[in-house]
Order: sequence, then structure tokens, then C-alpha cells
Amino acid sequence: MHLLPTEDEVVRVLRETGALRDGHFEYPSGLHSNEYLQVPLAMRYYQHARTLSVGLSRLLRTNSEIRAMIPQLSIVAPATGGLPVAYGVCEALRAHQVYWAERHDDGLPLRFRQFMEQTPGESVVLVDDILRSGSKLNEMRTLLESRGATVMGLAVVIYQPIPQTKDFGALPLFYLAKLEASYYTDAASCDLCKRGVPLERVWM
Ligand SMILES: [Zn+2]
Repeated sequence: MHLLPTEDEVVRVLRETGALRDGHFEYPSGLHSNEYLQVPLAMRYYQHARTLSVGLSRLLRTNSEIRAMIPQLSIVAPATGGLPVAYGVCEALRAHQVYWAERHDDGLPLRFRQFMEQTPGESVVLVDDILRSGSKLNEMRTLLESRGATVMGLAVVIYQPIPQTKDFGALPLFYLAKLEASYYTDAASCDLCKRGVPLERVWM
């Protein structure tokens, strides 16, 4: 595999590891889809994890503003699914640090571990395994900016936009592959429901 994997190579890794599945899925939001993706299934394997995070780090290096900040750069994940990607990217870039946020209960805001303070003007790249709705990444960005950090970019292994995906404006977005699934807002509008394809409910 090349230093920057192609979209086809990324998709092959996802399929081989069971991270990318075809079928008929219902998300907690009520959306129905023909495809389901769980990147941590691919990140179980160190060599795949390394290929994907090194590839992402190479994309980040193409941005001159981010490249200039690498020695001071914080790599921040909005959830545990982004952690293997964040550590891999930090190692490949030789960036300054990695940290992450957590949500202790549904409905509570994301927060950092106690005593985790941002330095004024701290440069941050947000890293996650996937950008789908973007709501957690958006919340993370707002939280970091409210604490004085500067978010310089957003890097994900997979960009799988849905109709409700947040708009991150001019914030640079880096991804290794873009996957377009078919989405239906509910069962009534779902072609797969109409065809009687067995439905699987997914947690996240
Ligand atoms: Zn359906």
C-alpha cells in the first residue's frame, strides 16, 4: 500500500475487517441506510491502523499553516472511537500532544478530564474516525474555542455525509475516503423497508 492509500484501498481495508457492511440499518436518530460503518473494527489491526493514520498525517502536512504548527499542535478526539487515529496521527506528525473528551451521560455536554487545561491560543487539529452528522465534532470545536484554543482543521478517516451533516464553514477538512450511502429519513420513505429487507438496529 502506498504512503497515501487510495480511496479503493481504504474501502478494501474496511470491507476485509468487517468495518463496512451492506444491508439495511436503522440509526438511533431514526435514519435508515443501506450501509453501516464502524471504523474501530478496522483499527483493531495495528498495520491497518498505522496505514490509515499515516495517510491522514500526510494529508495534514499538505496544509502549510498546520505544517508550521506541528511542534506545538494538539491532536484532539471528541470520543474514544477517534483515539487510535489521534495517536497514530500524532506519532506520524511528531505533534505535541493528544487528548480527548468524553460524555458521561446522554444529554450531558462533552468534557475533558479534570485539570486538562488548554493554553491560550493552543493550536488544535480535531481528529476522529468518521465524520457523519458532525454534531460531536462541532460541539468539540465550540468547547475548545470557548477555552481559548484555535481549531485549525478537521481530519477523519472516512467522510460519510448525511443530509444533516453540520457545515464547518472554512475549516479545512481532511479525509482518506468519502463514502456515499443511501439515507432515508424514516421507515415510511425507505426503499429497503418497502422491499422487505431485514432491518438491523445499530447503536451509534
Ligand atoms: Zn428501512
